[in-house]
Amino acid sequence: GKTQIVGLIGWPVSHSVSPPMHNAAFAALGMDWRYVPLPVPVTPPARIGEAVRGVRALGLRGANVTVPHKQAVIPHLDRLTDAAAAIGAVNTIRVEEDGSLLGDNTDARGFVADLRDHGVEPGGRRVLVLGAGGSARAVVYGLAEAGCARLTVLNRTPEKAQALVAAMQAAFPRCPMAAGAFPAELPQAAEDADLIVNCTTLGMTPHVEGLPWDEALPFRPDQAVYDLVYNPPETRLLGHARAGGAHAIGGLGMLVWQGAIAFELWTGTAPPVPVMRQAVLAALGRADG
Ligand code: NDP
Repeated sequence: GKTQIVGLIGWPVSHSVSPPMHNAAFAALGMDWRYVPLPVPVTPPARIGEAVRGVRALGLRGANVTVPHKQAVIPHLDRLTDAAAAIGAVNTIRVEEDGSLLGDNTDARGFVADLRDHGVEPGGRRVLVLGAGGSARAVVYGLAEAGCARLTVLNRTPEKAQALVAAMQAAFPRCPMAAGAFPAELPQAAEDADLIVNCTTLGMTPHVEGLPWDEALPFRPDQAVYDLVYNPPETRLLGHARAGGAHAIGGLGMLVWQGAIAFELWTGTAPPVPVMRQAVLAALGRADG
């Protein structure tokens, strides 16, 4: 048989953990598939359309898309899933049987899958989302789709939180949503939430001292705190949450699950999630887990 290829469109892509994660999965299942980095520089002229058409022309089965091309690929695709359209970003492309290109976003489902993996059911929860960037849009979509009771989005630039909420409220009219300013509105929003999700870059390497919180605000044992940041594994936010007795969860599992869901989209085969998790840990230099 012919080796099947999937790739990662982004810039830069050389340090991504996705190639080792997917190649470990293919190897574990004895599949003749390879996952390859496909660097597409941002320097003009923008070649993103050529890159997307190349996925089809070169006979690839699909691709992941990462920073900074997740929005730019959209005009070059034939069809979007509801999730990709509402989120306004594509992280997974699948080449269909007829050669058309489907754009999906597996970050939303990956986030919810990892929450459930940790025993946290988002349905019925009152959620506080910190941040209003690309990952926040996927998280809000996933939570609203999963039936959370209500959603508050706080952001340093409140206009971005308002725009995010306006777009998502239109997609999910039955889930009450509110937007506000971070950190001014944090004390009240924190008290009212039973699930708090950090979608800011605060706390991410190398800015590990960053804290999307106020040290004077306590956490409670009935709260769950999910930090999308996975490097370092234990952010200041998670340490603070755990000290207050809250259920603290780091973002590594979301990274694994968004990949696992993409794997299934391309191959039609159930993903070996533990193998993928071990490969990510090894690639991050945390082979001991
Ligand atoms: P974006 O750049 O799109 O958004 C960054 C967000 O952080 C914005 O809301 C921004 O606010 C806020 N922010 C940045 N600096 C500060 C600051 N000093 N004070 C307050 N707010 C700040 O990033 P993404 O949404 O793509 O990613 C966010 C994080 O999530 C990253 O750490 C990323 O690694 C992680 N991530 C993890 C995934 C996983 O699978 N675990 C998947 C995707 C992302 P403002 O609008 O005011 O600039």
